[in-house]
Amino acid sequence: MKTMLVTGGAGFIGANFVLEAVRQGHKVVNLDKLTYAGNLDTLSSISQNDKHVFVEGDIGDRALVARLLTSHGVNAVVNFAAESHVDRSIDGPAAFVETNVVGTLGLLEASRDYWRGLGSGAADAFRFLHVSTDEVYGSLGAEGQFTEATPYAPNSPYSASKAASDHLVRAFHHTYGLPTLTTNCSNNYGPYQFPEKLIPLIIQKALAGEPLPVYGDGRNIRDWLFVGDHCSAIQRVLDAGRVGETYNVGGNAERENIQVVKAICALLDARRPMADGRKRESLITYVKDRPGHDRRYAIDSSKLQKELGWKPSQTFESGIEHTVDWYLQNQAWSDRVLDGSYRMERLGA
Ligand code: NAD
Repeated sequence: MKTMLVTGGAGFIGANFVLEAVRQGHKVVNLDKLTYAGNLDTLSSISQNDKHVFVEGDIGDRALVARLLTSHGVNAVVNFAAESHVDRSIDGPAAFVETNVVGTLGLLEASRDYWRGLGSGAADAFRFLHVSTDEVYGSLGAEGQFTEATPYAPNSPYSASKAASDHLVRAFHHTYGLPTLTTNCSNNYGPYQFPEKLIPLIIQKALAGEPLPVYGDGRNIRDWLFVGDHCSAIQRVLDAGRVGETYNVGGNAERENIQVVKAICALLDARRPMADGRKRESLITYVKDRPGHDRRYAIDSSKLQKELGWKPSQTFESGIEHTVDWYLQNQAWSDRVLDGSYRMERLGA
């Protein structure tokens, strides 16, 4: 069992990871700034669990991070904390540089100094795992997939800031020997995702009978992965990944955005038909495209699959069905996180 410092563990993927890690018996120190995207509500089932210590704070606060690492005897850092929404990065890139680049640098420095002070056995076992995205590789044409060898070509302020943080992690391994691991994952979906991202946004709007905004021609392709499968991949890389390496994570589930929206409409129509008998597809409204919108992402995760034996447990069809059912059963969660500061309006236009 590990003692982990998990950052951003009140956000979407981080919280799914923390809930599973605590269930497995690991101890988690959860450092999160509680931005609009962080919700303690998600962690209510483990709020009294002595394997979970929540700390409100910033990953860039080196003194705080140093104190947490030392006082809890941490043997792995898993860095989820980030500003994560491309549309928000178009409106305000500075916050993305502040957290994703400068914040990650502070976390790396505090981790390096702590790691240097460990005895040799503990230092050998220590890991710093950085959670990143396939968006650092830029956009694909009709053919091909991103591999770990694909050159970085980030196109949005979000992906540029994540690319910078990936490079810092790489540099801390090569320069200081910090035992790092990096994962680059495709688009996630599943329970507890803030309703600004495509899938939960469309579910909320479709339930309310509102227009369903689809950017551009709707034919941008993303490679979708169920969040639980991303979390199991991170666990696997943490346990068995080769130090200094990066691993692509994806589920071979490329879909056009319009296909995703139509799949959600069909699932909701079957479970909760609209009162006037209309099909929810009739709510689809094409809107002005996102500036610089990447056309296609597709990820080759064969390194992770062959080297570490990981594979996803969900197909897109099973995962999206599970996700729609979760949002139907947990409307109170969505109502609480939509506290009024964000009203599902268009961002980054
Ligand atoms: P999220 O926006 O849902 O959660 C981010 C969390 O980080 C929030 O709880 C927020 O409060 C916290 N946070 C923000 N700034 C912080 C700071 N300075 N200090 C401490 N905590 C801070 O994001 P997510 O979708 O769960 O993504 C988690 C990570 O995974 C990110 O690094 C993201 O780049 C990466 N990723 C996301 C996806 C995806 O599809 N969502 C895919 C691949 C990789």
